[in-house]
Amino acid sequence: MQMTSAEYVDCLRAAATLLNENKDYITELDAATGDGDHWANMNMGFVRLMEMSEELAALPVSDLFKKIAMTMMSVIGGSAGVLYGSAYLKAAAAAKDAQAIDLPLLRDILRAQLEGIMSRGKAQPGFKTMVDPLHQAVDAMERAMEEGKNEAEVLSAMRDGAEAGMKATADMEAMRGRACYQPDKGVGHLDPGAVTMWYQLQTLADFLLKEGNAV
Ligand code: ADP
Ligand code: MG
Repeated sequence: MQMTSAEYVDCLRAAATLLNENKDYITELDAATGDGDHWANMNMGFVRLMEMSEELAALPVSDLFKKIAMTMMSVIGGSAGVLYGSAYLKAAAAAKDAQAIDLPLLRDILRAQLEGIMSRGKAQPGFKTMVDPLHQAVDAMERAMEEGKNEAEVLSAMRDGAEAGMKATADMEAMRGRACYQPDKGVGHLDPGAVTMWYQLQTLADFLLKEGNAV
């Protein structure tokens, strides 16, 4: 697979659509464990990114990620904006001067994003946050690559890992974010940030699988 900036922007558009369709669901999840603004925060960010889509599509990969970082940091309120800002700054550094994203670079980008969020949020896997789907996605992807799986299998493993990590947050006690302050620490509820992270990882995998880029 080879993914250009324009294709990455197409992929963001698919994530924006999925997010937009799930307004009530995400808002209810954040109302149960936090303050109810997570959908509005994320949606504002994605709406702005889509307004900039032409400009974004024309940028080299690293500049694209820098621009996404700045936009998310300034437009998305709350913790998520800062965390996605850190994730995309790390992604920009990982992309260096690449013209397009191949599978090993995609793995490096996702690993860098994970490290960015974990260090900025002082969060570990198992803390019931957006880290959980991303962590399991990256781990599953790396394992599949080490086992010599083909690209489609690697992308499917990434997608399945993200879903498993998202689902696992339901049983976790929150160690970061507003859910920490709930008497039940959010146990029994999915973490909203994990669900929106899963949307993005899912659309990324589906886009690459569907495009027939993966072999
Ligand atoms: P806020 O909590 O400031 O209202 P949002 O509602 O937009 O911000 O985002 C909440 C989500 O951010 C949580 O569901 C969780 O996934 C994620 N999150 C919050 N704090 C952290 C942290 N320290 N590390 C990683 N993720 C976090
Ligand atoms: Mg919130």
